Amino acid sequence: MPIDLQWEVPGDPGGLETFLSRVADACMELEGISGACFAVRVVDGETIRALNREQRGVDQVTDVLSFPTVRYPAGTTARDNAKRLRREYDPSLGAVNLGDCALNLDRAREQAAELGHSVQRELGYLTAHSAFHLMGYDHMTETDRRAMRAMEKRAMAALQLWRDPKGGIRMTHQELFNLACEVHVNSYAPYSKFHVGACILTEDGRTFQGCNFENASLGATICAERCAAGCAIAAGARRFAAIAVAADEPAWPCGICRQVLREFAVSLDMPVIAGRVGGSFTVKTLGDLLPESFGPEDVLNRE
Ligand SMILES: [Zn+2]
Repeated sequence: MPIDLQWEVPGDPGGLETFLSRVADACMELEGISGACFAVRVVDGETIRALNREQRGVDQVTDVLSFPTVRYPAGTTARDNAKRLRREYDPSLGAVNLGDCALNLDRAREQAAELGHSVQRELGYLTAHSAFHLMGYDHMTETDRRAMRAMEKRAMAALQLWRDPKGGIRMTHQELFNLACEVHVNSYAPYSKFHVGACILTEDGRTFQGCNFENASLGATICAERCAAGCAIAAGARRFAAIAVAADEPAWPCGICRQVLREFAVSLDMPVIAGRVGGSFTVKTLGDLLPESFGPEDVLNRE
């Protein structure tokens, strides 16, 4: 993995190392380098303040600090310094060591709340920011800042971590429905011959497609919605912002899928978009489809 995650705060990092590795891979691919890695320390505000003081002589809390192994000559980045980078090859890592960075989890939480997206997405953005620092980018002059910002934007787009100017998620119902239509072709439904595609949009702006897959036992059949949910969960996502379902004929999620969506929906207002493949669609909320429901909060908070 291109990321060595050092979790130095209470709690559990969940699937963060895998997610941040995807971020790092995307940044390195944009820069055109491979076989490199860096360490990501996740720390609290006090720790990053101490680091900032000791390493840079600045006694201030900040959101992220980056420490490249290579001194890039002015006006150059990693892609111009292949030789220099090769000297940083670390046999114990089996990769070129780009350096390390520290992310302030306290600040990431504040910034995520301000911007209206998940903490994971904020840590992803800070990791991309660091990755570009570790590859020679900087934001001291306006020209440099623009070049670095452009790379960060491209990385976020490659990862489908979009954000619109208002801080929300930039994806229309039509776009999400199109992704459900796209995956419909992979449906495995030889028994019912009813093919379904689904796509879940997570709160941090990622999309996960799924299709139904039937079974000769019939009972082992999995719906498209739960297939998409499984892909999202396996990628570390836990908060669903919307789902689209595209079928041969318009169909709403079955009862089991409604309850599964209820587990991970950011709210009962989560849009559920359903329609015929390639046709028009209707939007309801999860609350419309599953009234008087119970969810994890009802079970976890029981005395
Ligand atoms: Zn279902």
